[in-house]
Amino acid sequence: MIFDEIKNWLLDLLFPKRCLACGEYGNFVCGECLRKFSFLEEQECPNCRKKNRFGFFCNEKCRKGFYFDQLIVCSSYNKNILIRNLITNFKYKFVKELSFVLAEALRTQFVYTSQFIPEFSKAIFVPVPIHKKRLLYRGFNQSKLLTENLLFYLKNDPDFENKFENVESFDCLIREEYSIGQAKLHRAERLKNLKGSIKFDQEFSNKIKNKFLILIDDVATTCTTINECSKVLKQFGARHICGLVLARGQ
Ligand SMILES: [Zn+2]
Ligand SMILES: [Zn+2]
Repeated sequence: MIFDEIKNWLLDLLFPKRCLACGEYGNFVCGECLRKFSFLEEQECPNCRKKNRFGFFCNEKCRKGFYFDQLIVCSSYNKNILIRNLITNFKYKFVKELSFVLAEALRTQFVYTSQFIPEFSKAIFVPVPIHKKRLLYRGFNQSKLLTENLLFYLKNDPDFENKFENVESFDCLIREEYSIGQAKLHRAERLKNLKGSIKFDQEFSNKIKNKFLILIDDVATTCTTINECSKVLKQFGARHICGLVLARGQ
């Protein structure tokens, strides 16, 4: 629409887009910085954070209390300024367009890992849910948007049928009680805040039974949210759960 174009032109004039890493005018991420985007080449044990290739737990001791099976992280929240700025602007300043750049990061890491873990070729994506009130406030569920764009990119890859059997997504989790923003709380408080607040939409029971699921979220720190979602998904029969996140904080 012409009006949209005029609106965008005006917005660009008043609030020019600048690269969130180097400040260069033109786009949210300039080509130069995008090329330098540092993906993690090695993953770590989600619990003790000892390095390993695909984010599995070291052993049963490390696994204790966790319901998911592995965690794949794209980049370091603390070391990568670009990913930090992208996520902050996306999540807290509601720059919805950034979901495309961020989903591209998820896609890169997903496709890379899929070469080594055959189950990725028929994975089911599940976005981490947010509460209705937060949805109204932000206008979108960031994890759901990332999941949708990730799926869009994958399915539009001309090589899709050679690389993947089938990938799909089910928005099958619901966050019920209003919980205080998790980022502001300590681990013990986070657990209390979340307990019982994630529910499964039983309409999807047959879709996830015995399946390999990939839970999508923006940032994981203690993995409390991913764990709480995994607990519910395992109760309803999920076989394997891999968390896929943009970044992990300290
Ligand atoms: Zn730049
Ligand atoms: Zn460990």
